[in-house]
Amino acid sequence: MSPALDKTVNIEALHGKELIAALLEAYPKQVAVSSSFGAEAAVLLSLVAEVDPRIPVLTVDTGCLFEETRAYRELLIRHLGLTDVRILTPDASQIAFRDPGNELWESDPDACCHLRKLEPMNWATKAFKVLIDGRKRFHGDSRAKMKTVEQWGSILKAAPLAGFDEAEIERAFIQRNLPRHPLSARGYRSIGCEPCTSPVGLGEPVRSGRWAGKAKTECGLHKSPWF
Ligand code: SF4
Repeated sequence: MSPALDKTVNIEALHGKELIAALLEAYPKQVAVSSSFGAEAAVLLSLVAEVDPRIPVLTVDTGCLFEETRAYRELLIRHLGLTDVRILTPDASQIAFRDPGNELWESDPDACCHLRKLEPMNWATKAFKVLIDGRKRFHGDSRAKMKTVEQWGSILKAAPLAGFDEAEIERAFIQRNLPRHPLSARGYRSIGCEPCTSPVGLGEPVRSGRWAGKAKTECGLHKSPWF
């Protein structure tokens, strides 16, 4: 655990807004949030905005997002009053060199995620010591047993909603009057890039619409180490 946190509170016992506030106090100007502006993103971002709407929010536009996600991103920024949302994009020359036909998502999705997501995020996070994200244990797979706070190399990863279940997420949407992602009503429960995201049926796992039919379950942004 980071020395900065050892001197303050038992950070592992915190969650939600309390965890965000404690991290901000322990690491002033060194905390960022990672968000996809997907189906559940509004819950974490609303907590962040209540603690401090100036906290930098890093989001990757891979070039393959749904237009609905881009529109929702702008809606949430306005609705929550976020003042420092940074839209990261892959290096255009690298795209031209490594994926000129825009087909890498099909032939080698791990390489595609590395190029379009991990590389931009890796550059952007060098300026920070803490990265907050919206992972939850109820999403299953590698997330089922994750800790709320974990040190990943030089960065502390924190998931303030790790212990939230589906009902708590739904309750937060209602109680906070949060706008929904436009694709939620069409069965999309976890939303990433358009070629790799499908709607899921009733009772199916939340993330089963991501890379459906492939062994892949994570883009790599939430797997340690990144590089
Ligand atoms: S989710 Fe699909 S399109 Fe997006 S970066 Fe990964 S493989 Fe490429």
